Amino acid sequence: MRTMASFIVSVIVSVVVLGLIGFAVAQTIPKMEWAVHDPNRPLPTVLDPGPAGPPVVPPPGATVLFDGRDLSQWADAKGNPPRWKVEKGTMEVAAGTGSIQTKQGFSDCHLHVEWAAPVVVKGEGQERGNSGVFLMNFYEVQVLDCYDNKTYADGMTAAIYGQYPPMFNVCRKPGEWQTYDITFHAPRFDKDKKLLTPAWMTLSHNGIVVQSYAVLTGPTAHKMRPPYVAHADKLPVSLQDHGCPVRYRNIWIKEL
Ligand code: MG
Repeated sequence: MRTMASFIVSVIVSVVVLGLIGFAVAQTIPKMEWAVHDPNRPLPTVLDPGPAGPPVVPPPGATVLFDGRDLSQWADAKGNPPRWKVEKGTMEVAAGTGSIQTKQGFSDCHLHVEWAAPVVVKGEGQERGNSGVFLMNFYEVQVLDCYDNKTYADGMTAAIYGQYPPMFNVCRKPGEWQTYDITFHAPRFDKDKKLLTPAWMTLSHNGIVVQSYAVLTGPTAHKMRPPYVAHADKLPVSLQDHGCPVRYRNIWIKEL
């Protein structure tokens, strides 16, 4: 009798605890105030970051993903050597050859990326200097030339695409080197593929914090905010081919 009673109590306790965990997870994904790509969403203040500095030296313990010499750390989506151009210490998107991704997978990290929008200004809105830095292949920090170029707020430079506009527009002129420093915390899933904790990101653009502990609603996507789908603990970093000759240099990552 006593055993039965304690069994019932333990079932009730378990249900309450699991309910609380579920509630806590639901609470950690913020409710979005704005619809995806809402054209009325205010654009951030423009801020001049000053001139570009030299490449930032990787700290001890960092993995260098691109040092200007070759793409040995990268592959295309099929696992073949990328066909992006490497010259003068930079890599350049070769339009139509596809996005590229690191051979190695990563989870929680500090990722440093230097990029430059094309010198020859071409296209408007999303068509001007579009590329992207994807954490774990699912979560995009937008790369775009928003120096004197307007687009929807959650798709501009340094936006977490479709979710969060940056707090400032810190773009340098096309052709000038810019930096992203991303602190990324990967989402966690339990063994039943349920979300335990969502991904979050903090991002500095040209040394200015523009995303501060932004909690992602799920993978980033065009015109939608899909829910999380359980994935591996470690996945590649990828760079997007959006048809624009964006250049990259000095990319390194430090696992946290
Ligand atoms: Mg993009």
